[in-house]
This record gives sequence, C-alpha cells and structure tokens, in this order.
Amino acid sequence: MKKIVFAFSLLSSFSISAQLVDVRIISSMDLNAVNISIQSGAYVLYLDGKLQNDSLVKKVFQLVLINDSIEVRIPGDTLGRFANFKILGLEEDAVFKIKPIQPISGTRVYDHSLTITVVNKLLQCVNFVALDHYVAGVVESESGGRTSKEFYKVQAILCRTYALAHLSRHVLEGFELCDGVHCQAYRGRPSDSKVLAAVKETDGLALVDKGLNLITAAFFSNCGGQTANSEDVWLVALPYLRSVKDTFCLHSTNAQWKRKIDSEDWLNYLKFKHKYPVNDSVACYKALNITQGNRGVFYSYAGIRIPYKTIRSDWQLRSAYFSIEEARDSIIIRGRGYGHGVGLCQEGAIRMAKIGYSYQWILDYYYKDIEIINLSKLEFFQEE
Ligand SMILES: [Zn+2]
Ligand SMILES: [Zn+2]
Repeated sequence: MKKIVFAFSLLSSFSISAQLVDVRIISSMDLNAVNISIQSGAYVLYLDGKLQNDSLVKKVFQLVLINDSIEVRIPGDTLGRFANFKILGLEEDAVFKIKPIQPISGTRVYDHSLTITVVNKLLQCVNFVALDHYVAGVVESESGGRTSKEFYKVQAILCRTYALAHLSRHVLEGFELCDGVHCQAYRGRPSDSKVLAAVKETDGLALVDKGLNLITAAFFSNCGGQTANSEDVWLVALPYLRSVKDTFCLHSTNAQWKRKIDSEDWLNYLKFKHKYPVNDSVACYKALNITQGNRGVFYSYAGIRIPYKTIRSDWQLRSAYFSIEEARDSIIIRGRGYGHGVGLCQEGAIRMAKIGYSYQWILDYYYKDIEIINLSKLEFFQEE
C-alpha cells in the first residue's frame, strides 16, 4: 500500500491532475499493424528518438511490424523501419486515433501522446496521458456510462485513488498501468461530457485511511443487500472494508439471479472436491437446502467448512451470496448481487446519487473511517 508521502514527492512542482501516467493500451490484443491519425492539436514525431521536422497536423500513419522493426508508412511513402515510434502532443487538446488493422478492431480515441515499440515480437502501445484524462476514461469504462454526474464523482475518486496506489505495478515492463481489468479498464476518451465534468470537479481528491495510506478502493456491481468484509474474500482485514447493510441496490439490475444445477452434479462436487458426506441422509438434505440470510463466509456441516467464495468460483456464480433449495432432481441457487462484494456497491451508489446523496456521503457509507483529501493542496502535507 502506498503511503501518502509518496504523493507528496510527485506534487512538489505541479498539481496531481496534470501528473502524467504511462498506460499500456490495447493490451489484450497481439498487435502486428495499426493505423494512427491525429484528430486535433499540434504534435511532433520522433523516430528512434530523433525529432522529425515535418509538422504533423492531420497526418496519418500506418505502422506494420516487419522482422522485429516497425515500418512507418504515410500516404504514398514509407519513412523507413524503426525500433521506436512516438507522437508527442504539444497542446492541451492534443488527441489521436488508433485503429488496429492486424488483427482488425474498432478505432479508439486517446488524449496526448503515444509511443510504440516492439516487445516480444509484437507492437506495444503506451499512451502518455494526464492522470485526470486517464481517470475520465476509466470512469466511463468501469461505470458502464449513462448515470448521474454525482455518481461519476464517486467513481472518479475511486479510480484516481486506485491508480495512484498502483503506479508501480508494471514498472519492470516500462509503463505504469495497463488498460485491462488487471489494473483498471481504460478505452480512451469518454463519450459522456458529464464524466469529464465530474473528474474536474473532484480534481485532486483521493481516499486515505487513518494512517494516511491511499486505500484499496475496491468496488463491484451489486452487493445484494449486504457488502462483505475484506478478510472474508481476500484474507486481509482492512479497517475501512467492513460489511455494511445496503438497501439502495435491492431493486437494481443485478440484485438477484437464479441458477439451476442437477442435484447429482452438485452432490458429486461436494463429495469429490470437499469430501462431504453425501451418503449421510441429514448431510445430504442440508447440502440441498442452504440458507444465507445475512451474508455468510462458509457452508459448514459435520466439521467440513466450504467457503462460499470457493463455490462461487468453482461454479462461476455471479456472487457468493446465495441460498440453495431442492427442486425434484435439481437444485435452484437463488443469488443476490453481482461481484466480490467488498467495498463500494456501484448500483447502490448509483441509486443514492440519483435520490440526492452527495459523493462524500456515499463514500462514507461504503468505506469506514476514511478521509477524502485533496492531493493538490500542499499545505495538507506540510502540516505532517
Ligand atoms: Zn495492469
Ligand atoms: Zn448494494
């Protein structure tokens, strides 16, 4: 976990929102060729670290991997083969587009700068971007879009906190964050203008615990009525990730789910994976009729304890908060919520924002004993 002192050193000369981060983009694809075009703003081009003289405004490029080098093509010409291609945005409104063509995929739009190198015989693309532009892209990807500005503010503070706490994740690979769920999903500029406004209005805000550590800003889709303690899911007990009751999400999309499984498959699973005594008639009955009123941690009987999270993972269930009832030769699993259940329940927070709760109130509701601090206010740190 990052101590906030770390952020202090970043802040000595500029505000946190303008801090630049290196994010590997399109990281889930094995890229061999891409098209790139400048959408707005002035750019300069570097090839193998050498500044090229041409102005780049409105230029388009095609980059093709050939024998461990990047062949850089422009309409009607080829600039040569290089190890490193970089377009550097010179202005605030510098925006470029990138479209994978081998394999083919949709066009994406990003702010600021782009570096492409060859790593493990594939093109690796890294977006050098202001933290808050990155946060805005993450907010839209992680919240699914189409919600209120107040909820976007909640999500912006969470995504900023998470990003700052994980900047060293990929340091050995030459960038700071990736654009997959391993870090946070990031697909470039947001399309909803409310997202950018929410990021701006929460400029520099992040969550810390009593010890001034950036918190593990965990969130998930829907808790089904009760969130989980962190140690019940991840083994580590964090004082701010406590189970809370939540009625705000109970009528949302992911509040309930149902799954039918053959009784025989279920009992075989318990018998062979967990050595559960299915031949004992009472044990068998109990295993076919399980009730979680409050969120539980284990299904236990006769000294055997099976974590609900293990059952969730083995059967790929939407949550570990479920009950089971017998139905002829099947069981019906009736589940509540969607996701790991630790931290902030997004659908609950969306509802709270919609009925008028502020982002501060919402964050205080789902995280215990935390502070929202402004990382751009140096006076805060100077007092420490
Ligand atoms: Zn990552
Ligand atoms: Zn909830």
